[in-house]
Amino acid sequence: MNAENALRRRLLLAATAGLVAGAALPGTAHAASAGSSVVEPDIDSTATWGARAASGTISTLQYRPSKIIVHHTVSPNTTDYSRAQAHSHAHWVQNLHMDKNGWVDTGYNFLVSRGGWITEGRHGSLRTLTGGTTFILGAHTSGQNTSGIGIANEGSYHDGATPPAAQWDVLVTLCAYACTKYGIPASQIYGHMDFGDTLCPGVIHEMLPQLRSQVAARM
Ligand SMILES: [Zn+2]
Repeated sequence: MNAENALRRRLLLAATAGLVAGAALPGTAHAASAGSSVVEPDIDSTATWGARAASGTISTLQYRPSKIIVHHTVSPNTTDYSRAQAHSHAHWVQNLHMDKNGWVDTGYNFLVSRGGWITEGRHGSLRTLTGGTTFILGAHTSGQNTSGIGIANEGSYHDGATPPAAQWDVLVTLCAYACTKYGIPASQIYGHMDFGDTLCPGVIHEMLPQLRSQVAARM
């Protein structure tokens, strides 16, 4: 099953189960008429993808984040769009951050795979997002970790490569959900390079105006 179909199926299931108020299916007439059309995306928790335990204390900040900061992970631009690959990527990032950077856990709060699967990054990020009142202190953007959550896209977008459609669509969905849960305006979605001397998130940075407008349309 490709990721777009997977997302559509999940949305259908959520709508059928009455879990999503005014659930909006992409490309259907329902989307425009729904008063509260933001969709709760499927996010594979650290337990689901089998993360290592954190090596130290993870801090929960007792307030809401005021921004989202988008990254890319500079991993290979794989054409494996499976959920298994999303889990492999989550492990790769966690290992890099713990073993090379010496951090307690994955630095990002969430990751979006090229196939459109979302994985939780730092432990607790999913639980706190669902709660909507607190968030987990990450390690992704110098000076901004106490005010923003970090969402990283699998892949490397430096050399003209753009994110696959499934990845982009799920990024929009996740951002819209996080913005709604935390009361963050879509205008407060940034790229890593807005806050530091980095090329991250590559071409995705040029796509941020489009991301903000698509997120705003989903809220
Ligand atoms: Zn970054």
